[in-house]
Amino acid sequence: MQVSVIGAGVAGLACALEFAERGVEVEVLERAAHPGAGCSYFAGGMLAPWCEQENSGPLIARLGEESLAWWRARFPGTIVNGTLLVAHGRDAAELTQFARRTTHFEWLSAEAVAALEPELAGRFAQGLHFRDEAHLDPRAALAALSTRLRELGAELRFGVEVSAGMLRGRHIVDCSGLAARAQLAGLRGVKGEMLLLRLADLSLARPIRLLHPRIPVYVVPRGDGLFMVGATMIESDDGERVSVRSMLELLSAAYALHPAFGEAQIVEIGTGVRAAFPDNLPRLHRAGQTLYVNGLYRHGFLLAPALARRAAQVLLAGAHFPEVMDEDPRQRRLA
Ligand SMILES: Cc1cc2nc3c(=O)[nH]c(=O)nc-3n(C[C@H](O)[C@H](O)[C@H](O)COP(=O)(O)OP(=O)(O)OC[C@H]3O[C@@H](n4cnc5c(N)ncnc54)[C@H](O)[C@@H]3O)c2cc1C
Repeated sequence: MQVSVIGAGVAGLACALEFAERGVEVEVLERAAHPGAGCSYFAGGMLAPWCEQENSGPLIARLGEESLAWWRARFPGTIVNGTLLVAHGRDAAELTQFARRTTHFEWLSAEAVAALEPELAGRFAQGLHFRDEAHLDPRAALAALSTRLRELGAELRFGVEVSAGMLRGRHIVDCSGLAARAQLAGLRGVKGEMLLLRLADLSLARPIRLLHPRIPVYVVPRGDGLFMVGATMIESDDGERVSVRSMLELLSAAYALHPAFGEAQIVEIGTGVRAAFPDNLPRLHRAGQTLYVNGLYRHGFLLAPALARRAAQVLLAGAHFPEVMDEDPRQRRLA
């Protein structure tokens, strides 16, 4: 069997790798000049199945836990240091609320927060630690997947915009994100703005989420004094501009986490548009020779491996996974 994968974002590369590892002849077609040029470029790279229970159901936690093991086996840059959640005194109730909706954490005292992240000593009275969660640098991870794919003989073709009918006769796995909106009813864009800051004087070992009733923000350390700050969640498919308000909120939140961020350099300001179905759950959808893998929403790195594994089993073994498959995505609108 020969498989053509459309899109070299995290979904496309993970799918391609699942096929290549099974000995399938696979090519990846990407309209941009390099891998991860779509939404994947802007991700925080948090692999946080249990934190994400706060805004999603058990399916995301289950698929995410499965994906954690996949990343650890395939990308040595996967760092398993957990996730730390903190809140300032007036927002302490947010921590309790978060704890009610999630599992796999432990409460930390102020001393324990300081032991875990010495730079935060004296700043927070308590915290929640999700010790089994991980993070990675998305751009490095996608480069590593691309290298591995080439080692396995897969072809990665950049600057190729796939149009209707171009791949007639081939098995197609469409991982084109929001670009598949015309084929997948209900797919919408959720804008996410982010910053990359450089601050040599601060050292954090894990993603820190600062809870706030209106503006929850996280900071993900990328090493070498780089920190990703994210992310807004706006019902919009405008991937062009970052608003003044978002910028103010992200920077204020970083500063509220630690005033040292006041001296940080702004290295990058970015906007990605997450593709999501109405229920914010991912979907594998079959239409003729094409299998769509889409709707990864705010969980693309967390979910792509588990979805890719299922995509391979659907195409190669005719498997069916009702948890992520239906016959017609339009049915979801009615649900
Ligand atoms: C600010 C922000 C922070 C995030 N943080 C996290 C996080 O911490 N953890 C996490 O798990 N997720 C996170 N996400 C979500 C994650 O980034 C997305 O879920 C994921 O990137 C979706 O990947 P994808 O491969 O489906 O889509 P994309 O990355 O958009 O890839 C689709 C690719 O298809 C290509 N393409 C489209 N049409 C064609 C065509 N016709 N021919 C050829 N190529 C085509 C595009 O150029 C693109 O490269 C975040 C998202 C944002 C915006």
